Amino acid sequence: MDLGIGGKWAIVCAASKGLGKGSAVALAREGVNLVLNARGVEALEATAAEIRGAYPVQVHTLAGDVSEAPVRARLVAACPAPDILVNNAGGPPRGDFREFNPEDWQKAVNANMITPIELIKAVLDGMLARRFGRIVNITSASVKHPIPELCLSNGARAGLTGFVAGLSRQVARHNVIINNLLPGPFNTDRLRAGIRFNARAAGRSEAEQVEQMQARNPAGRFGSVEEFGAVCAFLCSQHVGFMTGQQVLLDGGAYPGTT
Ligand code: NAP
Repeated sequence: MDLGIGGKWAIVCAASKGLGKGSAVALAREGVNLVLNARGVEALEATAAEIRGAYPVQVHTLAGDVSEAPVRARLVAACPAPDILVNNAGGPPRGDFREFNPEDWQKAVNANMITPIELIKAVLDGMLARRFGRIVNITSASVKHPIPELCLSNGARAGLTGFVAGLSRQVARHNVIINNLLPGPFNTDRLRAGIRFNARAAGRSEAEQVEQMQARNPAGRFGSVEEFGAVCAFLCSQHVGFMTGQQVLLDGGAYPGTT
């Protein structure tokens, strides 16, 4: 299927590894030019070089912490008229809520709620004027079924979800489409850190933890970043003009509800 977005420009945040990288690669395969962000320069430049080597698209990089306002300003300056915005940032730390203080909560809310909202604010009016925009927020399956040790994520992402539910309906008539993409377990560094945390807590080996997690997922495995990227690219395509404000869950069927 031709996604109809060749030649467009995308900002992809937190994109040197994992789900952000998978999304960037999938967009490049569709001919989308990219401005990629992450904090670590080395991995960011390696990812940019890999994409440039594989696809005939322009790839620029902007290193820095996307949860900081000056970095966001430089990111938008590097791509002043984006057609696509993929919001992403590292997830907050795991732990019991009693361990976290207001500063921890402020960091989580800043990275996983305020940062995407501020980036949407920076690009939205241009998208409205150009009558094309696709915004995908990478959130988490925890939005549908909160995960006990991820209380910071459960709380912060709920705020973003509520905001997007309202805004997406205000802008859809101008062909600006905003959806949230909710990963379940995908094989990334972040998941591997979770495996180590849960194995330690349960007193089992990491291999046993992996086996148990995969066995209880209806798909019997973890997702791949390629699968994630393909769905992200579709949500950035011409074809989703009538699909907005959705929580698109990619979890192998782990969430058992009908809605
Ligand atoms: P990952 O493999 O650890 O990759 C994270 C990427 O984001 C890296 O490129 C990292 O590069 C970049 N990054 C992290 N914090 C950043 C920041 N403040 N500013 C700019 N770039 C930043 O993680 P992932 O698995 O792809 O997860 C992406 C998001 O999905 C996270 O919010 C995570 O909580 C959520 N999620 C993941 C899963 C899963 O199974 N993988 C499930 C549910 C939700 P630098 O470190 O160099 O900045």
